[in-house]
Amino acid sequence: MSGDLYQILGVSRGASGDEIKSAYRKLAKQYHPDVNPGDPTAEEKFKEVSAAYDVLSDPEKRARYDQTGMVDEPMGAPGGADFFQNVGFGDLFEAFFGQAGPRSTAVDGDDLRAEVQIELKDVLDPSERTLTYRRLAACETCGGSGAAEGTRPERCRNCEGRGSVQRVQQTMLGSIRTSTPCPVCRGAGQVIADPCRTCQGRGLAAKTETLTVTIPAGVDDGNTLRVVGKGSDGIRGGQPGDLFVIVRVAEDERFERDGQDLHMECALTFTQAALGDRFEIDGLSGPIEVTVAPGTQPNDQSRIKGEGLPRLNGGSRGSLFVHYTIAVPKKVTDEEAALLKQFSALRGEKEITGDTGGFLGGLFGKKRR
Ligand SMILES: [Zn+2]
Ligand SMILES: [Zn+2]
Repeated sequence: MSGDLYQILGVSRGASGDEIKSAYRKLAKQYHPDVNPGDPTAEEKFKEVSAAYDVLSDPEKRARYDQTGMVDEPMGAPGGADFFQNVGFGDLFEAFFGQAGPRSTAVDGDDLRAEVQIELKDVLDPSERTLTYRRLAACETCGGSGAAEGTRPERCRNCEGRGSVQRVQQTMLGSIRTSTPCPVCRGAGQVIADPCRTCQGRGLAAKTETLTVTIPAGVDDGNTLRVVGKGSDGIRGGQPGDLFVIVRVAEDERFERDGQDLHMECALTFTQAALGDRFEIDGLSGPIEVTVAPGTQPNDQSRIKGEGLPRLNGGSRGSLFVHYTIAVPKKVTDEEAALLKQFSALRGEKEITGDTGGFLGGLFGKKRR
C-alpha cells in the first residue's frame, strides 16, 4: 500500500483512537462496496482505508508504524480483503463497532479555531492566556434534545430510528443493498413534534466561552494548540469538537527569529570596532555582556550560546547572533577632524581633502563653519 496511513484516514498523527475509529467509520461508509456496486475505484479506496484502520487501530501496530513508517505484515484487513466482501454493510458496522439494533445517529460537534497573540519574550517560558470565543453548546432549555419543555423527541417510524433506509435491489448478480438517509427524519432517526423555542429544535445554542490555555515555551508563530472537546457540542450523543488555538508571536523590532536562534544588530563606533571593547547589550531575557575583538569589521558577528529561544516545551536555548555595523560619525568638530587627519597621516594614507572638496561640500560645508 502506498501513502501515509494517517493521510488515508484524514487524521493527524496525534489522533486518538476514537478519532481514528470515527474517521474510518465515515470513510468505510462512503466507500463500502454495497453502497458503490461495481465501482472499482471505491472498492480500492475501501480496501485502502480498511487496511490503514487495521494498523492505526492497534496500538502496537500503530507504534511500530510511527517508528518505522512501515507495516510489518502483508497489508490487508483482518482476515484479508474477502472478509469485507462476504459481510454486508450493516453487519460490518455491527461486527466492527459492536452496535446492535439501530445505528447511532449521533453527530459530532464542529471543530473551532481561535487565535492568541503573545510577545517574543513570552516564548521563553510557558505562559497562560485567557481567551473568549463562541461555540455551540447543548441548549440549556431542552438539555440538547431539541424538544420543547415537557416533550421528548420521538423515534422516527419510517426508519425505526436508524436514520437510514435500506433498499434491496434484485439484479442479475444477486441482491444489492443500498442505504440512503431517511427522508422523514433526514437521517436523525427521531422526529421532534414540538421544537424547543430557545434552539428552534437544533439542540444547540451559541454560547460565549472563556478558557485559559497554557502556551508552551518555545512556540513559533502559527503553532496550533489543540484543546480536545472544547469545540462545539455534538448532538444525539455525538462527541464535542476540538478547539484549535493558533498562536501568533508578535514581531519584535529588535530581534529576527530563525527557529531557536535570534539575530540582532549592534552598531559599534569606529573606535570600538578598531580597538575592541566589552559592554552590555539588552538580550531577550536581560543584559548580556559582549566582547568585541579589536579590528572588528562591518557584518562580523558574535554568537552567544544559550541566549536564543528554548525548544518547544522547554529545554536548552538556541543562540543569539549579534551582527555588527560600524557607525560613522555624522558630524565631527574641527578638533576631531584634525585628529582624524593626523591618524590618517600616521597610517600613511593618501592625504584627505575633508569636506572642502566637491560641489556639495562647498555648498554645505561652509555653512557649518
Ligand atoms: Zn433547546
Ligand atoms: Zn427516519
